[in-house]
Amino acid sequence: MLNSRLLINGAAKDSQDSKRVVIKSPTDDREIGTTELASKMQVDEAYKSAKNALNTWTNIPLYEKYQIFKKISDELLQRKDEISKIISDEIAKPLKDSLTEVERSSEFILTVAETARALNNKSNIGDSMKGYQKYQKTSIVEMLPVGVVLCISPFNYPINLSVSKIAPALIGGNTVVFKPSSQGALSGYILAEIFNKYLPQGVINFVTGSGSEIGDYLITHELVNMINFTGSTEVGKHIKEISKVPYLLELGGKDFAIVSNKANIEKAVEQIIQGAFSYSGQRCTAIKAVLVGSGVYEQFVSMMKQETMKLTVGNPSDNTNITCLISMKAADYAEELANEAIDKGAKASWEPKRDNNLVYPLILEVTDSTSRILWEEQFAPILPIYKVNSLDEAIHLANKSKYGLQADVFTNDINEAFEMARKLEVGTVQINGKSDRGPDNFPFLGVKASGSGTQGIGESIRAMQREKVIVINL
Ligand code: NAP
Repeated sequence: MLNSRLLINGAAKDSQDSKRVVIKSPTDDREIGTTELASKMQVDEAYKSAKNALNTWTNIPLYEKYQIFKKISDELLQRKDEISKIISDEIAKPLKDSLTEVERSSEFILTVAETARALNNKSNIGDSMKGYQKYQKTSIVEMLPVGVVLCISPFNYPINLSVSKIAPALIGGNTVVFKPSSQGALSGYILAEIFNKYLPQGVINFVTGSGSEIGDYLITHELVNMINFTGSTEVGKHIKEISKVPYLLELGGKDFAIVSNKANIEKAVEQIIQGAFSYSGQRCTAIKAVLVGSGVYEQFVSMMKQETMKLTVGNPSDNTNITCLISMKAADYAEELANEAIDKGAKASWEPKRDNNLVYPLILEVTDSTSRILWEEQFAPILPIYKVNSLDEAIHLANKSKYGLQADVFTNDINEAFEMARKLEVGTVQINGKSDRGPDNFPFLGVKASGSGTQGIGESIRAMQREKVIVINL
């Protein structure tokens, strides 16, 4: 059992109201820990502490910040076995994937610090505008932190998607209030503890509690200067409506893979299996629907069925491909979408199977384009496949989606690949590969209902800073 605490002004604290939430493993309902429910007064304290620490932290030389980050990155890596076990317990992620998540996050922290060292400030000379003489006016543009950043992460990458906000915020001179997903808060606590161990008092603050209870208070707090959020489109939309400060939002995705008649089908199948089924489809960039050219449709579906049948189903510790979904509610939703498609004539690859929140992999050959599973985020190992008669039809369908995170194009024709890539209304198009957030140094963004703003390494650092212009008049 891991009893996580709140971290406020450098110290671990219990809930003021003695309110605790028991965290159970989605795999077997076993109690694995508890989290504290922060009161509004404790949220106030967390923000005050972040605000008070701001000046000291901002003024610490970047080289010293880099040294601190190296220690944080090292400790995370040294404790990877312990942390990945907690991730797997609390979100049912296969152990090897949890391990990769921790390793990748350790590398990310170090790379953020190294990148910050290499980012230069700008200066401008005014004579490119009419009426100014050379060197009459020169500006020095310094990059300053925006202030206190609220970092909110989702359940599916409790370490990586927390680090991807916290590290760039801090290296840019900001201080942080970090609220993890309730299911993900145990690993989030260890992460916050590690940061807190090496950072000056109050630079990182960790508060837990259900988003529906403390979320609005956190978002609209008078001391928050910026919000960096990853989660569902529904909550992201709510943040847009009530927030009074700038935000970076990484939201839901419905990534379509388009398989052209000119694709290498074997390669497409291999990538789509990984893209659709890893972590049981519970990834923002999971492939959530496939549009297949009529010339290769039969071959593609037959190979997809063969490969899907090979996926293993079981426990996170056994490193099986498919583990249970995060909750019964998530499994109910996925089943509802599958049943609706089947009612509308979709052909299931085999009898759909589910044990509580363990949903077995399934392929659905959808023929009615109004089926909800073609448009909604199933977040489950159920993959709809739809036959198209032309690439224009595929692009039209993919662009009809309200989401715009990534799309994948499988073809051996480079002209066709580029034409489709240019026409697809998404943040990223993958050519002959599955959708993916990484490598972490690539810009990452969603358009339409999939987000607002661009993340990455340099991009995230800069997104949480503002310019300060000093003009020298000669
Ligand atoms: P979620 O339900 O939206 O929750 C995300 C975070 O928001 C959690 O920490 C949650 O806390 C908190 N929250 C809930 N209601 C809130 C409110 N009113 N105010 C402030 N915070 C609130 O999403 P999820 O189920 O954890 O994650 C899955 C979703 O995230 C999917 O839609 C997926 O596509 C998306 N996602 C997107 C990306 C991307 O990069 N674009 C990456 C990963 C995931 P509680 O847990 O305490 O409710």
